[in-house]
Amino acid sequence: MKFQIDEKYLFDCFRRLVEVPSPVCYGEKINPLLEEMAAEMDCRLTYDLRGNSYITLDGEDNDKTVLVAAHWDTLGLVVRRVDADGKIRVRQLGGVNYCSLEGESVTIHTRSGKEYTGLITCQSHSVHVFDDARTLERNENTMIVLLDEDVHSKEDVRALGILNGDFISIDPRCEVTPGGYLKSRFIDDKAAVACVFAMLKHLKENGLKPKYRTMLCFTYGEEIGLGGPWVPAEVSEYVAIDIGLIGPDYEGHERCVTICAKDNKAPYTYALTNRLIAYAEKAGCDYAVDIFYRYGTDASVALATSNNLQAAAFGMPVYCSHGRERTHALSLQNTTNLLLAYVLDI
Ligand SMILES: [Zn+2]
Repeated sequence: MKFQIDEKYLFDCFRRLVEVPSPVCYGEKINPLLEEMAAEMDCRLTYDLRGNSYITLDGEDNDKTVLVAAHWDTLGLVVRRVDADGKIRVRQLGGVNYCSLEGESVTIHTRSGKEYTGLITCQSHSVHVFDDARTLERNENTMIVLLDEDVHSKEDVRALGILNGDFISIDPRCEVTPGGYLKSRFIDDKAAVACVFAMLKHLKENGLKPKYRTMLCFTYGEEIGLGGPWVPAEVSEYVAIDIGLIGPDYEGHERCVTICAKDNKAPYTYALTNRLIAYAEKAGCDYAVDIFYRYGTDASVALATSNNLQAAAFGMPVYCSHGRERTHALSLQNTTNLLLAYVLDI
């Protein structure tokens, strides 16, 4: 590989990021961490009014501005209602697969700043009790949260300060094996945020400047299409770093970086995608080019919403996307390498 990426820093970043809950649009806890991580790199985080945050780097040529986006938001839930018996019903934030959530620990974040843990399960929660415990479809109408509190009524739950609309985060269960496999929820897209910081560290330590003025953008609502609709007017290229997929249609695998040529909205900008392929070649990346079907990124949303820019996307392929995902350290290395080649334009 062309660039020597600090893998320990990259994984440390991922762990720090993934342990901080940040369901879609809930930046209360992740924004202070991003500010801290930016400060460690002698950078400052700025915000737009929507909730996206930015680190802006001077380039060799500041007449052109490019943007690299990675979303900090993750799948999550909100409190829909509290049942008479104190069980909590939910609505989803993003493309939740309830089958993969059953039995997970969750945390409810109240507007007054309290946190309560619970267990998410199906209302037919036990094969010893319910005939349909194996067959009842897991969806918004059949899943419940059991609070880890001595509550027996709606009033008991309300007395804790829990309101409808409170955010619910899901335990990430992050694990790294000695062989370099990363198993965790929310590799989508906190691994991409970690890659952006690993790139930033490499630039800083080697005294390198991006080719163009470069905005590193951490978006707040990709999982529901809110990350890319508005883009600062000076941005002429929008590159989203987001997960790749693994499956029968795809060339990508857990050790490479996948360049996404098309997603469910549209083909990405032809010339910019060609440049990414050329950068991947030159940087010696193990890479694949794929088109994704049930999938979108901030970049294709930016294209679809009247911004005057070119768009592209690439990232680390994962198994079990939107569940407890798995990828390998090499795919994070390849992704960071391609990111460096792109911002340095070499
Ligand atoms: Zn994503």
